[in-house]
Amino acid sequence: MILVTGGLGYIGSHTIVELLNNGYDVVVLDNLSNTSIDVKDKIKKITGKDFKVYIGDILDKELENKIFKENKIDAVIHFAGLKAVGESSVIPLEYYKNNVEGTLHLLEVMKANNCKSLVFSSSATVYGAQDIQPLKESAPLQDPTNPYGRTKRMIEDILKDLYKSDNSWNIILLRYFNPIGAHQSGLIGEKPNGIPNNLMPYITQTAIGVRDHLNVFGNDYKTHDGTGVRDYIHVVDLARGHVLALNKINKDKKESKGNLDIYNLGTGVGYSVLDIVNTFKKVNNIDVPYVIAPRRAGDIDCCYADPTKAYKELGFKCEKNLSDMCKDSWNFQKNLNEN
Ligand code: NAD
Ligand code: UDP
Repeated sequence: MILVTGGLGYIGSHTIVELLNNGYDVVVLDNLSNTSIDVKDKIKKITGKDFKVYIGDILDKELENKIFKENKIDAVIHFAGLKAVGESSVIPLEYYKNNVEGTLHLLEVMKANNCKSLVFSSSATVYGAQDIQPLKESAPLQDPTNPYGRTKRMIEDILKDLYKSDNSWNIILLRYFNPIGAHQSGLIGEKPNGIPNNLMPYITQTAIGVRDHLNVFGNDYKTHDGTGVRDYIHVVDLARGHVLALNKINKDKKESKGNLDIYNLGTGVGYSVLDIVNTFKKVNNIDVPYVIAPRRAGDIDCCYADPTKAYKELGFKCEKNLSDMCKDSWNFQKNLNEN
């Protein structure tokens, strides 16, 4: 049984679909701070399989202990946390408490219950600004530019220290690049609260008319068209990466090996903001009005993954391209507005 914290969120929900489809049983802990309980029924509809959800907080050790007592948890995939970069500068204490303290509580409960297998949602943000692209896992990490990024960096450090202290743990840090897209069914996807910070939800909301226009943050970056370049990955590909990470942990456990591994999950290809806008317009045959706006504070020119290590060691390869990402994001947005 796999405990999935934050399992009803954007990446968690897609991962649960892949886990259930690959024969894993799951149980979820989510406080619903950034999602709603109806995501459970949508996952059930997609997979035809049911699973238990505990509504509660990763800060609540008593509840976490109860989950471990009531279920035989073999491994944890830990998504739960706050993730809005801008907000993290406004309410940093909430970010450190939720993300760092919440993770510490979870780790203490895991240890007390002798569960030492963990997949953690890290982020490409831990690389900070780097001169050399694509990014390899071995790149020396630069200071993240905001409290959110620092929580990810701190948790990575905590997990590295934990593994050093007891190398019977099996820990995989997955550094996600930019997940976009949605499940093909259109039933689950990213549903941001309020005004979206991220590019793709802003594009889909502009295309549907909720937003007047997209602000393209800067066209004077050192990139092929001047707009920022990122490594966008379809959320379903990203979700599959978690199943492969668990498979690796199971294999290592069978051989009585502990490990701490770090993998980039990205496609290895960088696209600019205008590449995304133009592909979205073309494949969906819909307009996305935009204006060129000033740069957004803290943004960097370019960031994309070297995905070789995940390919070699996990067998991870992205199957979906930018057109799929744009089509599936749009399909989800249209479904949201129809229902
Ligand atoms: P999300 O907000 O959709 O999902 C997070 C889930 O965790 C939500 O369902 C929320 O209700 C729950 N949650 C938050 N705090 C909690 C707490 N204290 N206790 C219990 N549940 C809690 O976010 P997501 O995009 O699915 O991201 C999942 C993870 O991946 C996060 O840790 C995020 O930082 C990380 N990540 C996301 C991205 C991205 O672009 N989406 C990129 C890199 C890393
Ligand atoms: N971006 C933009 N307009 C928006 C949101 C984002 O031009 O409304 C740009 C942003 O400057 C960056 C890229 O889109 O170059 C991806 O931004 P996002 O916030 O989605 O992800 P990030 O890479 O910052 O985590």
